[in-house]
Amino acid sequence: MSSERPSSKIIIQVVGTVIAAAILYLFRSWLPVIGSWLFSVIRAIWTFLIAGHAIPGWLLVIFVVCTLWLTVRVLLGFRTAPSRSHEFTEDDYVKDSFFGLTWRWRYGQTGIYSVVPCCSRCDMQVHPRLDHVSTLSTLTGYHCDNCGQHVSLEGDHQNIEDKVTRQIQRKLRSGEWKQVISKESAQR
Ligand SMILES: [Zn+2]
Repeated sequence: MSSERPSSKIIIQVVGTVIAAAILYLFRSWLPVIGSWLFSVIRAIWTFLIAGHAIPGWLLVIFVVCTLWLTVRVLLGFRTAPSRSHEFTEDDYVKDSFFGLTWRWRYGQTGIYSVVPCCSRCDMQVHPRLDHVSTLSTLTGYHCDNCGQHVSLEGDHQNIEDKVTRQIQRKLRSGEWKQVISKESAQR
């Protein structure tokens, strides 16, 4: 025995038929309009394709499609190029921040040399000067004569430069230099 009542089946069929008839009626009343519009569009396209251009219309369409495709390819290439084309090496790691200062250096046959401190605020190169000397401690000051920032570090300059050099070597060994470079290139 079917659980569905026959009366509900009939109602669904009737409603379905009415909706279909309504859609068909609407479609029929709009058919000439849609038909003539479609016909004019097709005729316009056809006229364009067979019209007397310097080159055949169909060839022009192929050229346009190819040009669009190439443009999209070139634009996509430009967008993905910077992330792929430039792979950084350890030689690119020549700048980092240590102890409140920006340090720059070079690589030579003997390793890291020419380690130069710069102001972390305005990037002016700063020269070390003795801030305080006593039997217990030595303080070296790095004063920026451009923006006035002053950084005082424990030890003499040679000592501080050695600390910075060892930090650079540590980051080169651990691979942290990659994060420094990618952060810097993202800020540019
Ligand atoms: Zn400064």
